[in-house]
Amino acid sequence: MLDDQTTRPILELRGLTKSFGETEILKAVDLDVEQGEMVFIIGPSGSGKSTLLRCCNRLEEPSGGRIYVDGKDICDPKNDLNKLRQKIGMVFQSFNLYAHMTAKQNVMLALRKVQKKSKEEAEQTAIEMLTRVGLAERVDHFPSQLSGGQQQRVAIARTLALGPKIVLFDEPTSALDPELVGGVLQVMRQLREEGMTMVVVSHEMRFARDAADRVVFMADGVIQEMGPPEQIFGAPQVARTREFLSSLD
Ligand code: ADP
Ligand code: MG
Repeated sequence: MLDDQTTRPILELRGLTKSFGETEILKAVDLDVEQGEMVFIIGPSGSGKSTLLRCCNRLEEPSGGRIYVDGKDICDPKNDLNKLRQKIGMVFQSFNLYAHMTAKQNVMLALRKVQKKSKEEAEQTAIEMLTRVGLAERVDHFPSQLSGGQQQRVAIARTLALGPKIVLFDEPTSALDPELVGGVLQVMRQLREEGMTMVVVSHEMRFARDAADRVVFMADGVIQEMGPPEQIFGAPQVARTREFLSSLD
């Protein structure tokens, strides 16, 4: 049977606003992310990129507008927020792994606690996900025995284990030494090839240019310009975009 949700974007923002006190940080943002797309969000510090991502699973409560994930309004109290949150993976700059748990145990935790999986099932999924991010040999290592890049890949495996429809990355490589960035970007590129839908806030402009399906330039709480990477980086239409890009070295 055909159902119309298969044609809807995975993520739809409709007039999303967010204020902190008197200050309006997001000013009626509209954005669609289609299945399988990798969308980059770039823009100056303080322009609301993290706030936008955090609203998408209600880590921040939107002040107005609508957010649909896989066709479901995440602010509708009739929808189970905990269930919806499992559809929206989040990867942050800080990996937040438990230091006293191995890579495998870190990945297993949410599967056991949130999804009530059996130990055997959780363990099998954890090993599969760690293998997917290139850490098959490291499943029994503790975070302190892993590089920052490997720790971030454990965090990505942990997110993937819950079976999200979309993964939001907030500056996933910003905390890493330069030589460790490539391994994380490689995993993200592979996820894109596997068809994962992703929204990525990043300063890795070269990677964005190379891997993005679409680039969104945000400043002052609005989307100033959006388009394919060739447009945004090669022939930006809006003066504000040109100013931002030329301010980078
Ligand atoms: P970006 O990720 O683009 O750097 P943020 O979304 O983190 O921007 O922040 C946008 C603006 O919102 C900033 O001015 C920031 O100080 C403010 N802000 C973010 N979170 C909060 C909060 N919890 N309370 C008050 N102000 C906040
Ligand atoms: Mg931010």
